[in-house]
Amino acid sequence: MKNLVIVESPNKIKALEKYLGNNYIIKASVGHIVKLPSSGPHGFGVDLETWIPNYKIDPSKKKIIKEIKKELNEVNKVYIATDPDREGEAIGDNLVNFLDIKDKYYRIRFNEITKIAIENAIKNPQKLDLKLVNSQIARRILDRIIGYKLSKIMQTKIKNSPTYPSAGRVQSIALKLVFEREKLIKSFVSTKYKVISAKLENNLIAIFYLKNGKFKNNTWVDESQINEIKSKFSNELIIKNIEIKKKKEKKIIPFKQSTLYKKGNSSIGMSASVIQNTVQRLYEGYGEGGLISYPRTDSTRLSNTFVNHAKEYILNKYGKEYLSDKILGISGDQDAHEAIRPTSIKLTPKKAKIKFDLNDREYKLYKLIWENTMKSLMKVPIRENINYKLSELDLLYKLSYSKIIFDGYYKVVEMKEIDSKKEIKIPKFNIGDKFKVKKYNIEDKETQPPSRYNDGSLIKTLDDIKVGRPSTFASIIRILKKRFYVDMENKAMKITDFGNIVYKKLIEGFPKFMNEEYTAMLEKDLNEIAKGKKDYKEMLTIFWNSFEKQIEKQIEKTQVTIIPLEKSDKLCPKCNSNLVVRTNKRDGNKFLGCPKFPKCKHAEPKPGFEPKFIKKNFKKNNKK
Ligand SMILES: [Zn+2]
Repeated sequence: MKNLVIVESPNKIKALEKYLGNNYIIKASVGHIVKLPSSGPHGFGVDLETWIPNYKIDPSKKKIIKEIKKELNEVNKVYIATDPDREGEAIGDNLVNFLDIKDKYYRIRFNEITKIAIENAIKNPQKLDLKLVNSQIARRILDRIIGYKLSKIMQTKIKNSPTYPSAGRVQSIALKLVFEREKLIKSFVSTKYKVISAKLENNLIAIFYLKNGKFKNNTWVDESQINEIKSKFSNELIIKNIEIKKKKEKKIIPFKQSTLYKKGNSSIGMSASVIQNTVQRLYEGYGEGGLISYPRTDSTRLSNTFVNHAKEYILNKYGKEYLSDKILGISGDQDAHEAIRPTSIKLTPKKAKIKFDLNDREYKLYKLIWENTMKSLMKVPIRENINYKLSELDLLYKLSYSKIIFDGYYKVVEMKEIDSKKEIKIPKFNIGDKFKVKKYNIEDKETQPPSRYNDGSLIKTLDDIKVGRPSTFASIIRILKKRFYVDMENKAMKITDFGNIVYKKLIEGFPKFMNEEYTAMLEKDLNEIAKGKKDYKEMLTIFWNSFEKQIEKQIEKTQVTIIPLEKSDKLCPKCNSNLVVRTNKRDGNKFLGCPKFPKCKHAEPKPGFEPKFIKKNFKKNNKK
């Protein structure tokens, strides 16, 4: 008799068929097979006494379930091979319950889609981990309650909003961060300072510095000291001291999801959504097995097996002196996970590009992951910093040089990228050497306000303050953009007027819930549930008791905000009123409508407005 394997994504079917052979039938659930209906008390779809969700089969999954059921009679064992995280565990639990296969199922987990990982998983079948399932259920219910209640308040208390406003446990904290960054930028008072340099013969530039200045950076000079310093300017500077220091470059840590988002955003300019979709494809592979390990991870640990393979590769390619003796990395909350790494270190970016015909984005991201993994296993480069310290009277100057004396992990970067660091020729000077000063320069400088968040830095911050999970980061960013809470300016997020209105309503009404510490505490509770240290029902009861009290009070207190509509100079052909600019809440497109709506229903296109087809850009590209 054959066996059945159920995976989440249809993209994995081909590779699993190849690895497991004819005795296995592979089917995909395509994400969750159930939905949480909007029924029962408050429309939460949950029994508030037992905290059992009232899951219903998702109508769009009926065909898939029928197909799977057809196979059930023909097979011996059923392997639940959903993704190795809480979400995957919950999908598996629902499959077991709704397919009624408690007696014949096994849970298998693999971190990468390779022959060896899948064979190992089949050899070590397990049962579902109900602690993880409970944690997912608690998360789902929390998000339902907070999301439903707060979104409803936003929708009833804000009129003329350009989209349906929503609020949520994690998305509203993300909005808060963007709001507070903008506040910080607006209230920023810059510090003014001066930088003094001496232009010497042979185009050398010596920078003035202070021993005990007012600022942390010793080359920053306060306005008040300028006159005194100027009075001591001399025609000649003499080398009094030579300081040589060796400094190690930064140690590289293997990627977890949030650091990949940040790096992918800053170094190759990809948005969170693009990175999310691209790494998913790299993970699922191209029918040939996956190129990278499971990407929705909060772990930076590398498995021993992988480290051993990679060390051998580095040893053969670069030699022993390039092998790091200490590899950084920690396991995340979902222990079995690893960092995001290539499934085979031997598959260099160039080889991968040719073998799998990678597109530009796939190639760039794979290269980033491959190089970062290599670097994390290699010795750190060493830099030599040389400071020639010059002075005359009691003024101090320095001529600073720096060069790489051991290239370490720079070896993996293409030569042309590091040539600039290698080619520097440091002039040899001796103590007592004298230089004529051709000219002194005093430059006005000032400190800059903090920069706005981009996709990557916002995700990294959410992860750092322990709000949100790897599986939801990209969708949080998508929501901020889709709801028009933020505008993108030079790939950075600027809060919109609408975003401000929504945020202020939230923070005024629910300061306790719109709070990073509180959200992080809930996240911690969810981790404890996943470890079996906390009862999910107890946790939800405590939460609901405090949330319900506040929400009922606040619904009455919250005032209605009417967003003024922009008037046009066109008149309504039906009632002669001045038409106003309205926004289609579903797709974000603008049009002209009658201000007397719903009494008068006239609407017409807005002259000069090009439809943005936002819906298409925000099409559901992720199951979670
Ligand atoms: Zn009208």
